[in-house]
Amino acid sequence: MDKPTPEPDELLHRLREFHSDYFPRHQQRFQDLVAHGQHPKTLFIGCSDSRLVPYLLTGAEPGDLFIVRNVGAFVPPYDGSHGLHGTTAAIEFAVLNLKVEHIIVCGHTHCGAIRAAYEGAPEEAVNLHNWLQLANEALLPVQTSPEALYRTEQRSVVLQLERLLDYPMVRREVEAGRLHLHGWHYVIEDGLVHVFDAQQGSFLPAAEAGHSGNEPILPPSFLP
Ligand SMILES: [Zn+2]
Repeated sequence: MDKPTPEPDELLHRLREFHSDYFPRHQQRFQDLVAHGQHPKTLFIGCSDSRLVPYLLTGAEPGDLFIVRNVGAFVPPYDGSHGLHGTTAAIEFAVLNLKVEHIIVCGHTHCGAIRAAYEGAPEEAVNLHNWLQLANEALLPVQTSPEALYRTEQRSVVLQLERLLDYPMVRREVEAGRLHLHGWHYVIEDGLVHVFDAQQGSFLPAAEAGHSGNEPILPPSFLP
């Protein structure tokens, strides 16, 4: 009996394509980034959702963004527990080692993490269950509806910005004017990012906003 034809290995194909097609056109940039090191100016904290593509949204090139992604684009509290918090470590590294000038927190529409924060995680997903608690303060005391989820996604972005300001190194750099915080809500179906305006306490479509994020010092529990 003949062996079945193996499934084409799509990932291997793409690795070869990267090397033969994309890389030769950008070789110099990658080699410069190795020779001179990386100096990204922006830490991008985004949801892991496959439809959120930070490089497309920001027009970034290799070397431009230091990225940490997690379920929900959440920022763990700076509580001094010094546990194995990947996102917390990435924030410290970006601010203290890389000295980034911007931190973007980017949530999005139809976020499964926000929905799960209302509806619960599978029983076996004990770590996910705990992680989703990081959205608790953004949840609304209403039945879930498309409008409630949309609003909660935006409230969560602001909540994470507030938590960032509890990081001593973040607050210090923000107060010194060397670091700027940006809260974004990406509307996947419209291709539009809504930008949090701290003075107005609301999100504005990027097409109408005069900035990509402003004055991040917020009063406690300030949520839109
Ligand atoms: Zn999401």
